[in-house]
Amino acid sequence: MSVFLNSRYRSLCPYVPGEQPKDRKYLKLNTNESPFPPGPEVQTALSCAAAADLRLYEDPDNAVLKAALAQHFKELGLSADCFCPTAGSDEALDLCFMAFAEDSIQFPDVSYGFYAVLSELHRLDARVTPVREDFRIDPSDYQRNDRCIVLANPNAPTGLALGETEIRALLSRNPDHVVIIDEAYVDFGGQSALPLIREYENLVVCRTFSKSRSLAGARIGFAAGSPPLIQDLERLRNSRNPYNISTLSQLIGEAALREPEYYTENCRKIIGIREWTLRELRKLGFTAADSLGNFVFARSGQLGGRALALALRERGILVRHFPAERTRDYNRITIGTQAEMERLVETLAQLLEDC
Ligand code: PMP
Repeated sequence: MSVFLNSRYRSLCPYVPGEQPKDRKYLKLNTNESPFPPGPEVQTALSCAAAADLRLYEDPDNAVLKAALAQHFKELGLSADCFCPTAGSDEALDLCFMAFAEDSIQFPDVSYGFYAVLSELHRLDARVTPVREDFRIDPSDYQRNDRCIVLANPNAPTGLALGETEIRALLSRNPDHVVIIDEAYVDFGGQSALPLIREYENLVVCRTFSKSRSLAGARIGFAAGSPPLIQDLERLRNSRNPYNISTLSQLIGEAALREPEYYTENCRKIIGIREWTLRELRKLGFTAADSLGNFVFARSGQLGGRALALALRERGILVRHFPAERTRDYNRITIGTQAEMERLVETLAQLLEDC
């Protein structure tokens, strides 16, 4: 750390992303990417993209993406001004924290690690509420109407989700504060809160193209909410990084929204492989919750979480271990292709037999 770093950030603990190895020798089941490539429309859009166009700045209003999102969700009756496209949903979350958390925020202890980092970055008083023993969020813990709330639904790394009735209760019990629902994994079986946007003026939903749309490297996400909330986010976005989505990402984001069937089919496959993986892991003595994400959160009866992650790594497979007290016995394992998960299960069976 240099002597010049602003004192506000001296104690900041940055988010630690999952390992992204430079060589490609690992089976990567550690960062919840899709095992399937982006669809044909995206490939075509990329191959038609003219390098010369990069000379110019892109449209700072992201108008094409906003219109494509409105069209994609047209049955919900959300207009283009209900969407704020962002560079991944991490940027949407950052803007929401900045815009709507006055000086405090609430989120669960077992959840996406970035919430704690953003709280620190924006100097918020964080009420970190323990999830129940079974890792489920207890909605009755979020009824005080005294601060902004952020929940991942389905939650990560557990994969457990709240239903629409519970989300409605949260929204109506906290009428004076924004409730941010992070739906990074909703396409794998969760219930989206997007249809509630027209009813609740305190709801913001954050979404990403990184998981179900196979575009983690393109950095595309968005926040959705009522037009006044979106105007607030746009005000901050334009004060910080008005050209937040590159020309190429705007192009391929729009292309991905043109072929929803391709991604729905991939999600259907991933859900099937997830259920197969859960059954096989349980046969091997693992405890694992009924995940609604593109990952499972599993604990071996025989090996600790860290030991298991290291043993798998030695055998060429990366999974994610979170060393915090409540999660350290577990690993979060991304769902890959059927063949990849068969390799994982065989490797685990061998490993547990040897120990
Ligand atoms: N929310 C959750 C719960 C996540 O796990 C992630 C992925 N790390 C994100 C948001 C952010 O994803 P991205 O910025 O790629 O959209």
